[in-house]
Amino acid sequence: MAEDKKQKKVRKIPGIRGMNDILPEESHIWSFMEGTVESVLVSYGYQQIRTPIVEDTSLFARGLGEVTDIVEKEMYSFEDSMNGDKLTLRPECTAGVVRAAVEHNLTYNGPRRLWYTGPMFRHERPQRGRYRQFHQIGCEALGFPGPDIDAEMILMCRRMWRELGLTGVRLEINSIGDAEERNRHRADLIAYFEKHKALLDEDATRRLYTNPLRILDTKNPEMQDMVNAAPKLLDYLGEASLAHFDGVRAVLDRNGVAYQVNPRLVRGMDYYNRTVFEWISDDLGAQGTICGGGRYDPLFEMFGGRSTPSCGFAMGVERIIELLKARGDVEPASIADVYIAHRGEAAGVVAAEIAESLRDASLDVVLYCQAANSGGSLKSQMKRADESGALYTVIIGDEEVESGKATVKAMRQGAIDGEQTQVVFNELADYVLEQVVQAEALDGVCDF
Ligand code: ATP
Ligand code: MG
Repeated sequence: MAEDKKQKKVRKIPGIRGMNDILPEESHIWSFMEGTVESVLVSYGYQQIRTPIVEDTSLFARGLGEVTDIVEKEMYSFEDSMNGDKLTLRPECTAGVVRAAVEHNLTYNGPRRLWYTGPMFRHERPQRGRYRQFHQIGCEALGFPGPDIDAEMILMCRRMWRELGLTGVRLEINSIGDAEERNRHRADLIAYFEKHKALLDEDATRRLYTNPLRILDTKNPEMQDMVNAAPKLLDYLGEASLAHFDGVRAVLDRNGVAYQVNPRLVRGMDYYNRTVFEWISDDLGAQGTICGGGRYDPLFEMFGGRSTPSCGFAMGVERIIELLKARGDVEPASIADVYIAHRGEAAGVVAAEIAESLRDASLDVVLYCQAANSGGSLKSQMKRADESGALYTVIIGDEEVESGKATVKAMRQGAIDGEQTQVVFNELADYVLEQVVQAEALDGVCDF
């Protein structure tokens, strides 16, 4: 009794704010999303790359830019207590991929189409669609200078939304030119903002001379009119940048991709140039951007590599999952084809052997094992069998052990042979496999 009371006082240690557990109840939606996106990536010839979650802090400071939101205030940076190294949990993956590409000379034999998936970390205020650990799937096409690859990426995104069944996702594109064009625009932009200094909020005032382009990105409603009338970067583009932008648009137009040119679209990181794009859903409230990307020709050289013009994008997995959840039609797959219930000591041992033989026949099998807080009556086992979604339950009791025949019970419509039948142990795998294959053929699905 005293022990019991003591137990109850143990403090539960909660998870970290803004970092979510993805529970089995929703993990099937994640699997559907990841599987669908991966199969589209593969169909465009992309190969997966996996880089570490931790990188040298200077990689992000140099790559993303010192005066970006991420580097200024969102990074989880710490000192390695063993050796004093300055490290950062990756806030995004492009810097890591390009670091790895330079380090391993990945584009030595020509361009590469790469993709990645995994958690990213940003110390932001947690809210709907904005978390401190979140997930991105993204891709990077390294060593491609032309507008063709930018357009191909956008077509690939469209195919992903289609395959996922997402509707109501719109595309905005822009060109932010090259460094020289941005510099000329920047000078005029600063002069314009100086004329309207009284209207600038605190963030904008701070950025006026460091990153004025980002002021265009403001969400402050009181600044919208002023910002709308600011000099447009598109008007400063030279011939080459314009031709590149036209090249992207020609492919999009020819393929019937609807888009809006948004002259105020700039992206958060310093490494972008020329094409930038965002896919936006209006069903997600304030955090509507589900995918953002663009070209980053200068980044390889910023990391000490050879000039390697490239582009990429990243999608926010949580935001897409929210859209899929709201649609509510991604069904969980059944856990098992067969559930094995048993009663009695000898039966338990035989049941484990039978379960193995069914798995050898590539069936998904859940074997009843002793459960905490439940008696293990045949009735409760049948309830578990039902919940598992299995088409058949194999029942092994003393009688079955004696006769060498298992009882096979059909659990659901779609099971072929009647309600209940007896099958000798060594024919069981073949029997059940045939039944399951037939049932799935009738159902029009087969997950083998
Ligand atoms: P935002 O303007 O919403 O802060 P961002 O420009 O910082 O976005 P990117 O760095 O371009 O975002 O990341 C690509 C995608 O990753 C975003 O479009 C979004 O879908 C997702 N994403 C970014 N930050 C978060 C976050 N904190 N939580 C969940 N998803 C995020
Ligand atoms: Mg952000």
